[in-house]
Amino acid sequence: LFITLEGGDGSGKSTQMGALTEWLQGHDRTVVQAREPGGTDLGLELREIVLHRRGHIAPRAEALLYAADRAHHVATVVRPALERGDIVIQDRYLDSSVAYQGAGRVLDPDEVRDLSLWATEGLLPHLTVLLDLDPAVGRERLDASRTRYDRLEAEEAAFHERVRNAYLALAAAEPERFLVLDATRPVDELQAGIRDRVSALLD
Ligand code: C5P
Repeated sequence: LFITLEGGDGSGKSTQMGALTEWLQGHDRTVVQAREPGGTDLGLELREIVLHRRGHIAPRAEALLYAADRAHHVATVVRPALERGDIVIQDRYLDSSVAYQGAGRVLDPDEVRDLSLWATEGLLPHLTVLLDLDPAVGRERLDASRTRYDRLEAEEAAFHERVRNAYLALAAAEPERFLVLDATRPVDELQAGIRDRVSALLD
Protein backbone atom coordinates (compact mmCIF):
# COMPACT_ATOMS: atom_id res chain seq x y z
CA LEU A 1 0.00 0.00 0.00
CA PHE A 2 1.41 3.34 -1.10
CA ILE A 3 0.05 6.45 0.64
CA THR A 4 1.19 10.00 -0.08
CA LEU A 5 0.59 13.25 1.79
CA GLU A 6 0.35 16.50 -0.10
CA GLY A 7 -0.29 20.12 0.75
CA GLY A 8 1.41 23.45 1.13
CA ASP A 9 4.12 24.24 3.63
CA GLY A 10 2.75 24.35 7.16
CA SER A 11 -0.29 22.18 6.33
CA GLY A 12 0.70 19.51 8.87
CA LYS A 13 1.81 16.67 6.59
CA SER A 14 4.57 15.41 8.85
CA THR A 15 2.37 15.46 11.97
CA GLN A 16 -0.26 13.35 10.20
CA MET A 17 2.37 11.03 8.78
CA GLY A 18 3.80 10.40 12.25
CA ALA A 19 0.40 9.67 13.79
CA LEU A 20 -0.67 7.38 10.93
CA THR A 21 2.60 5.48 11.14
CA GLU A 22 2.20 4.96 14.88
CA TRP A 23 -1.35 3.68 14.43
CA LEU A 24 -0.41 1.26 11.65
CA GLN A 25 2.58 -0.04 13.60
CA GLY A 26 0.25 -0.56 16.55
CA HIS A 27 -1.70 -2.88 14.25
CA ASP A 28 1.46 -4.85 13.43
CA ARG A 29 1.99 -3.37 10.01
CA THR A 30 5.47 -2.64 8.71
CA VAL A 31 5.65 0.98 7.66
CA VAL A 32 8.33 2.76 5.68
CA GLN A 33 8.25 6.52 6.13
CA ALA A 34 9.57 8.38 3.14
CA ARG A 35 9.86 11.94 1.96
CA GLU A 36 10.93 13.91 -1.01
CA PRO A 37 12.90 15.75 -2.04
CA GLY A 38 15.70 14.03 -0.16
CA GLY A 39 14.65 10.45 0.60
CA THR A 40 18.04 8.99 -0.35
CA ASP A 41 21.71 10.03 -0.16
CA LEU A 42 21.59 11.23 -3.75
CA GLY A 43 18.25 12.86 -2.99
CA LEU A 44 19.75 14.83 -0.10
CA GLU A 45 22.35 16.29 -2.45
CA LEU A 46 19.63 17.16 -4.96
CA ARG A 47 17.49 18.65 -2.16
CA GLU A 48 20.32 20.96 -1.15
CA ILE A 49 20.58 22.15 -4.77
CA VAL A 50 16.87 22.65 -5.47
CA LEU A 51 16.11 24.29 -2.13
CA HIS A 52 19.23 26.17 -1.13
CA ARG A 53 21.35 26.87 -4.19
CA ARG A 54 21.92 30.58 -4.62
CA GLY A 55 20.68 32.05 -7.86
CA HIS A 56 18.17 31.14 -10.51
CA ILE A 57 17.44 27.60 -11.64
CA ALA A 58 15.61 27.38 -14.98
CA PRO A 59 12.13 25.90 -14.43
CA ARG A 60 12.76 22.88 -16.68
CA ALA A 61 16.05 22.20 -14.92
CA GLU A 62 14.26 22.35 -11.58
CA ALA A 63 11.60 19.93 -12.82
CA LEU A 64 14.32 17.52 -13.97
CA LEU A 65 16.13 17.71 -10.63
CA TYR A 66 12.93 16.79 -8.77
CA ALA A 67 12.29 14.03 -11.30
CA ALA A 68 15.82 12.68 -10.78
CA ASP A 69 15.30 12.65 -7.01
CA ARG A 70 11.97 10.86 -7.44
CA ALA A 71 13.32 8.30 -9.93
CA HIS A 72 16.18 7.28 -7.64
CA HIS A 73 13.98 7.21 -4.56
CA VAL A 74 11.29 5.06 -6.17
CA ALA A 75 13.80 2.64 -7.66
CA THR A 76 15.89 2.17 -4.52
CA VAL A 77 13.45 2.70 -1.62
CA VAL A 78 9.76 2.81 -2.50
CA ARG A 79 9.42 -0.06 -4.97
CA PRO A 80 11.54 -2.50 -2.95
CA ALA A 81 9.44 -1.70 0.14
CA LEU A 82 6.16 -2.19 -1.72
CA GLU A 83 7.45 -5.46 -3.14
CA ARG A 84 8.19 -6.67 0.40
CA GLY A 85 4.57 -5.91 1.27
CA ASP A 86 5.39 -2.92 3.50
CA ILE A 87 3.17 0.14 3.70
CA VAL A 88 4.93 3.21 2.35
CA ILE A 89 3.79 6.59 3.67
CA GLN A 90 5.40 9.42 1.84
CA ASP A 91 5.55 13.15 2.46
CA ARG A 92 5.13 14.64 -1.09
CA TYR A 93 5.21 12.81 -4.41
CA LEU A 94 4.37 13.51 -8.05
CA ASP A 95 1.41 15.77 -7.25
CA SER A 96 3.92 18.15 -5.61
CA SER A 97 5.72 18.40 -8.92
CA VAL A 98 2.55 19.03 -10.89
CA ALA A 99 1.58 21.74 -8.38
CA TYR A 100 4.98 23.40 -7.76
CA GLN A 101 6.97 22.86 -10.96
CA GLY A 102 3.81 22.85 -13.11
CA ALA A 103 1.40 25.48 -11.80
CA GLY A 104 3.98 27.26 -9.59
CA ARG A 105 6.73 27.64 -12.19
CA VAL A 106 4.24 27.73 -15.00
CA LEU A 107 5.23 24.61 -16.92
CA ASP A 108 2.59 22.45 -18.61
CA PRO A 109 1.11 20.32 -15.80
CA ASP A 110 0.51 17.35 -18.11
CA GLU A 111 4.13 17.41 -19.24
CA VAL A 112 5.36 17.58 -15.65
CA ARG A 113 3.13 14.65 -14.75
CA ASP A 114 4.35 12.64 -17.76
CA LEU A 115 7.97 13.34 -16.79
CA SER A 116 7.26 12.04 -13.32
CA LEU A 117 5.49 8.95 -14.60
CA TRP A 118 8.49 8.24 -16.82
CA ALA A 119 10.83 8.72 -13.87
CA THR A 120 8.86 6.34 -11.66
CA GLU A 121 7.84 3.83 -14.35
CA GLY A 122 4.23 4.80 -13.75
CA LEU A 123 4.04 4.31 -9.99
CA LEU A 124 0.92 6.01 -8.60
CA PRO A 125 -0.20 6.05 -4.94
CA HIS A 126 -3.26 4.10 -3.83
CA LEU A 127 -4.25 7.03 -1.64
CA THR A 128 -3.21 10.67 -1.62
CA VAL A 129 -4.22 12.82 1.34
CA LEU A 130 -4.39 16.50 0.44
CA LEU A 131 -4.19 18.78 3.47
CA ASP A 132 -5.74 21.87 1.97
CA LEU A 133 -4.76 25.19 3.54
CA ASP A 134 -4.83 28.87 2.69
CA PRO A 135 -1.13 29.59 1.98
CA ALA A 136 -1.25 32.72 4.15
CA VAL A 137 -2.18 30.55 7.14
CA GLY A 138 0.55 28.03 6.28
CA ARG A 139 3.02 30.87 6.15
CA GLU A 140 2.04 32.09 9.62
CA ARG A 141 2.46 28.59 11.02
CA LEU A 142 5.93 28.37 9.47
CA ASP A 143 6.98 31.78 10.70
CA ALA A 144 6.20 30.61 14.20
CA SER A 145 8.50 27.59 13.96
CA ARG A 146 11.22 28.04 11.34
CA THR A 147 14.61 29.66 11.33
CA ARG A 148 15.87 28.65 7.89
CA TYR A 149 13.80 29.44 4.83
CA ASP A 150 14.23 27.75 1.46
CA ARG A 151 13.93 29.24 -2.02
CA LEU A 152 10.31 28.19 -2.35
CA GLU A 153 9.18 29.75 0.90
CA ALA A 154 10.50 33.07 -0.37
CA GLU A 155 8.17 32.95 -3.41
CA GLU A 156 5.42 35.53 -3.64
CA ALA A 157 1.88 34.77 -2.44
CA ALA A 158 0.58 34.30 -6.01
CA PHE A 159 2.94 31.34 -6.49
CA HIS A 160 1.53 29.56 -3.45
CA GLU A 161 -2.05 30.37 -4.52
CA ARG A 162 -1.37 28.70 -7.88
CA VAL A 163 0.05 25.68 -6.06
CA ARG A 164 -3.03 25.39 -3.85
CA ASN A 165 -5.43 25.66 -6.78
CA ALA A 166 -3.45 23.10 -8.77
CA TYR A 167 -3.67 20.63 -5.88
CA LEU A 168 -7.46 21.12 -5.68
CA ALA A 169 -7.77 20.61 -9.44
CA LEU A 170 -5.74 17.40 -9.24
CA ALA A 171 -7.98 16.11 -6.46
CA ALA A 172 -11.11 16.97 -8.41
CA ALA A 173 -9.78 15.10 -11.44
CA GLU A 174 -8.99 11.93 -9.47
CA PRO A 175 -11.50 11.79 -6.60
CA GLU A 176 -11.02 8.06 -6.06
CA ARG A 177 -7.30 8.51 -5.31
CA PHE A 178 -7.58 11.71 -3.25
CA LEU A 179 -8.86 12.43 0.23
CA VAL A 180 -9.12 16.21 0.62
CA LEU A 181 -9.15 17.54 4.18
CA ASP A 182 -9.41 21.06 5.57
CA ALA A 183 -6.04 21.46 7.30
CA THR A 184 -7.41 24.05 9.76
CA ARG A 185 -9.37 21.30 11.52
CA PRO A 186 -7.91 19.84 14.74
CA VAL A 187 -5.06 17.37 14.29
CA ASP A 188 -7.03 14.49 15.87
CA GLU A 189 -10.04 14.97 13.61
CA LEU A 190 -7.84 15.00 10.55
CA GLN A 191 -6.10 11.84 11.71
CA ALA A 192 -9.46 10.12 12.28
CA GLY A 193 -10.50 10.94 8.71
CA ILE A 194 -7.25 9.56 7.34
CA ARG A 195 -7.49 6.36 9.42
CA ASP A 196 -11.04 5.72 8.17
CA ARG A 197 -9.90 5.89 4.60
CA VAL A 198 -6.78 3.77 5.19
CA SER A 199 -8.83 1.14 7.08
CA ALA A 200 -11.07 0.73 4.05
CA LEU A 201 -8.00 0.12 1.89
CA LEU A 202 -6.60 -2.47 4.27
CA ASP A 203 -9.77 -4.60 4.35
O1 C5P B 1 7.94 19.35 2.33
P1 C5P B 1 9.27 20.01 2.51
O2 C5P B 1 9.25 21.12 3.50
O3 C5P B 1 10.39 19.04 2.68
O4 C5P B 1 9.51 20.70 1.09
C1 C5P B 1 10.59 21.50 0.89
C2 C5P B 1 10.30 22.60 -0.10
O5 C5P B 1 10.29 22.09 -1.43
C3 C5P B 1 8.98 23.29 0.11
O6 C5P B 1 9.22 24.69 0.13
C4 C5P B 1 8.18 22.91 -1.10
O7 C5P B 1 7.36 23.95 -1.40
C5 C5P B 1 9.23 22.62 -2.16
N1 C5P B 1 8.90 21.63 -3.19
C6 C5P B 1 8.78 21.98 -4.52
N2 C5P B 1 8.51 21.04 -5.47
C7 C5P B 1 8.36 19.75 -5.13
C8 C5P B 1 8.48 19.37 -3.78
C9 C5P B 1 8.76 20.34 -2.82
O8 C5P B 1 8.91 23.15 -4.86
N3 C5P B 1 8.12 18.86 -6.09
